[in-house]
Amino acid sequence: MSAEYVSPWMDDELQLFREQARRFVETEMLPHDAHWRERKHVGHEVWRKAGDLGLLCTDVPAQMGGVGGDFRHEAVFYEEQARRGISGFGQSVHSICAHYLVNHGTPAQRARFLPRLASGELVGAIGMTEPAAGSDLKGIRTRAVRDGDHYVVDGSKIFITNGYLAGLIALVVKTDPAAGSKGISILMVETKDLPGYRVGRILDKLGMHAQDTAELFFEGVRVPAANLLGGVEGQGFHQLMQDLPYERLIIAVIAVGAMEGALAETLKYVKERQAFGKPIAEFQNTRFKLAELATEVRVARTFVDDCIRRRLAGTLDTATASMAKYWCTDLQQKVADDCLQLFGGYGYMDEYPISRMFADARVQRIYGGTNEIMKEVIARSL
Ligand SMILES: Cc1cc2nc3c(=O)[nH]c(=O)nc-3n(C[C@H](O)[C@H](O)[C@H](O)COP(=O)(O)OP(=O)(O)OC[C@H]3O[C@@H](n4cnc5c(N)ncnc54)[C@H](O)[C@@H]3O)c2cc1C
Repeated sequence: MSAEYVSPWMDDELQLFREQARRFVETEMLPHDAHWRERKHVGHEVWRKAGDLGLLCTDVPAQMGGVGGDFRHEAVFYEEQARRGISGFGQSVHSICAHYLVNHGTPAQRARFLPRLASGELVGAIGMTEPAAGSDLKGIRTRAVRDGDHYVVDGSKIFITNGYLAGLIALVVKTDPAAGSKGISILMVETKDLPGYRVGRILDKLGMHAQDTAELFFEGVRVPAANLLGGVEGQGFHQLMQDLPYERLIIAVIAVGAMEGALAETLKYVKERQAFGKPIAEFQNTRFKLAELATEVRVARTFVDDCIRRRLAGTLDTATASMAKYWCTDLQQKVADDCLQLFGGYGYMDEYPISRMFADARVQRIYGGTNEIMKEVIARSL
C-alpha cells in the first residue's frame, strides 16, 4: 500500500487547474525569482499574466467579476508556489482585499474594483499595521475626516505586503477616534496619481526577499466617500474580524505547501549526497528524521484539509483557523530547520532553495496575527 496522500477535496477539474498553476509557477515565476529577490518586488507583468490565465480571484463569484471557483482553486495556486519556494507574489493579501469587497462592499464598489483585481490590473493590499499599532489594532492613528464628498486621510502604515505595487489598498482608518473599535472604518484607496500618497522604502527583510513590504504615507489624501467599504462608518473592526478565518487559513495552507516542498527537496538531496561511502539517505538518523518529518507534515496536511472542508461548508470558525495558523507555521519553521540540517553546509547557502525556505518561514509566525495572538483567540474560545 502506498503512503501517497491526495487531499479529499481534489478532483479531476482541480487536477487540470493544478497542472496549469504548476506550469505558470515553473515558467513565469521560478525563472524570474532571483531577479525579483534582488529588486525586492515581482513587478506588474506577472500579475497581469496570472490574471489573463484566470489564476487571480479564483474564489470570487463570476457575477462579481471573479473566476467563479471556490477556495480549493485558491489553495491549489498557493500550494504550487509554496512547494517551489516562491514567496514574493502576494496573492494572499490580494485575495483578502478582494474578499473585503465580496463580503462587505456595496454593489458599486464590487463592480468598480473586483474585475480589475481579477485581471491583475490592480494589485491589492491591506493597510492595517502602523509603527505604533500591530497586534493592538485599536491603537491605529491614521485618521479619515469627512469633508463633503470625500474623506481626508492623514497617517502612515508599515510592513504592507504588495505596498510598492498596490493599485488598491483596503486602508484601515479611524473615522471617530473617541468611539474605540466602533470608530474604525475601511477605505478602499485607489493609489494611481493620488496626491498626498507616497510609498516609502521597500523594507529589507530576513526572508521573502521578492515580496515588496513597504511603508505607506498619507498626507491630506482625498478619498471619495463612495469608497468607504460597505458605505457605513464604524464597521471596519467588525469587517476585519469577520474575514480573519479566511486570512488565517491561507497562511496555514501556504505553511503546509512549504513543508511539503522542503521535504521533497530534502528527499532528493539525501539520495544524491554521499558521506562515508554511501548516500546520506542510508544513515539511520536520516531515515528516522525523514520518517518523523513525513509524519508531521501529513498530520498538518490532514488538519488543513479539514479546515478547507469547513471553509467550503461555511463552518470554519476563527478559533479553528487560528489553531491552523499557529500550529502549522510553528511546524513549518521546525520542518524547514530539520530539512536544512540534512543539507549540511549547503543548506546554509543561498543557491539552495532550502536556505530560502528556512528564511521565508520565519515571518509566517508573525504576520496575519502573531502566534501568541492566535493562542489568545483559541484560549478565549475554550
Ligand atoms: C513581512 C511582513 C509582512 C506584513 N504584511 C502586512 C500587511 O500586508 N498588512 C498589514 O497591515 N500588516 C502587515 N504586517 C504586519 C504584521 O501583521 C504585524 O507585524 C503583526 O501583526 C505584529 O504586530 P507588531 O509587529 O506591531 O508587533 P507587536 O504587536 O508589537 O508585538 C510584539 C510582540 O508582543 C507580542 N504580543 C503583543 N500583544 C500580545 C498579547 N496580548 N499577548 C501576548 N503577546 C502579545 C506579540 O506576539 C509579539 O511577539 C506584516 C509584517 C511583516 C513582518
